[in-house]
Amino acid sequence: MTHGSILMACPECDLLHWVSAPPKGGVSFCTRCGATLRRGGYDSKDVALALHCAALILFFLAVSFPVMSLRLHGTVQEASIPGCARILANLGWPWLSAVLITTVLLAPLAHMIGMIYVLLQIREQHPNRWTVWVFRIVEQFGAWGMAEVFILGIMVSYVKLAKMAVVLPGPSLFGLGAFIVVAAAAVSALDIGSVWEELGSPAMGTFDNNPVEAQTAREANMVGCPTCGLLSQLEVITCPRCGATLHSRKLNSRERTWALLITAILLYLPANLLPVMRVLSLGHTQSDTIMGGVFYFLRSGSWPLALIIFIASVVVPILKIIILAVLLVSERRRSSRWPGQRARLYRLTEMVGRWSMVDIFVITLMVALVEMGSVATISPGPGSVAFALMVFSTMLAVQCFDPRLVWDSLTMAPGKQKEYEHE
Ligand SMILES: [Zn+2]
Ligand SMILES: [Zn+2]
Repeated sequence: MTHGSILMACPECDLLHWVSAPPKGGVSFCTRCGATLRRGGYDSKDVALALHCAALILFFLAVSFPVMSLRLHGTVQEASIPGCARILANLGWPWLSAVLITTVLLAPLAHMIGMIYVLLQIREQHPNRWTVWVFRIVEQFGAWGMAEVFILGIMVSYVKLAKMAVVLPGPSLFGLGAFIVVAAAAVSALDIGSVWEELGSPAMGTFDNNPVEAQTAREANMVGCPTCGLLSQLEVITCPRCGATLHSRKLNSRERTWALLITAILLYLPANLLPVMRVLSLGHTQSDTIMGGVFYFLRSGSWPLALIIFIASVVVPILKIIILAVLLVSERRRSSRWPGQRARLYRLTEMVGRWSMVDIFVITLMVALVEMGSVATISPGPGSVAFALMVFSTMLAVQCFDPRLVWDSLTMAPGKQKEYEHE
């Protein structure tokens, strides 16, 4: 034990570590599975606050201007992001509109406003129980924000629409790009661990056990908080610092992950076989499946876009399904082989999942922009419902899986040094 360091359980493998506050920009990793234990911010809380405010302003600019304008046979069609959502709802596709509103508008907005509120409360030095509550849920909103995937969607639909009409990028595209850069800077400026230390009284839970570092929290009869990381006795039900419910392992993790995974597998076929988009022009209808979209880009010579859509929409979902199935089966057989590799695969599925939504955003943009019935109409196909549901069920399956299960069949204790790495 070193002075000033706190005992933490690795969120992904449950191994106990003594962790000291990392230096600016430094990250401390788990010695066994490589998960991030604590990330030191690049700057102070005030800088993080300023950046979040700047991101909020850019966000409002991005949503109040049109994303693209389309010139077709003398008419100009343009729509902002809320405009797209409204058009979709009016055309009878409220679910598509809801996906757009939640992932591109509400989730980033709730994350920013929540962070600004918490950082202001800390600055004014009167954090209350609401501050703790807001900070506890704020991270969850961040996970469902998909502004960067939406930007990719804008680029893809730009290329698609450019074949039909004169397309001009709108100011929103640049606003959204600037927002993503500033929002990412705001997130990396902040040391989340130090915010928790200012919000909650105990920097370290109270426990009378005498834990050894090579033990897991469960072996030491303790449990780490999934939200704020505070370590408590195993009998404690709610975290004394943030109020989150404590479980040594996620409840019914295997059953829930399997259920969501099977749902995703069942949806995979209709998502890929049914048309995701219908284009009606000059009296004849053309239906496009996901693969049809890939071939369309290949035929028109935009192979980088064909590759992006193929990877995001076809490869990533099937890869996630296979990885989760492998993790569940190997855990069931209590396999102790390749735990490090399995942990990395799990982290990969967490990271790439959101990019599968790009095709859904392409559909929303194309439907909303080309709604002048005289020349052409684009409408979503039933495949798009199956596709969006499949992406959401794989994302939820990844969240339901408990990566600590991978390590539970292992008894060996690894090396104990911790290293700080500067990025
Ligand atoms: Zn670990
Ligand atoms: Zn907590």
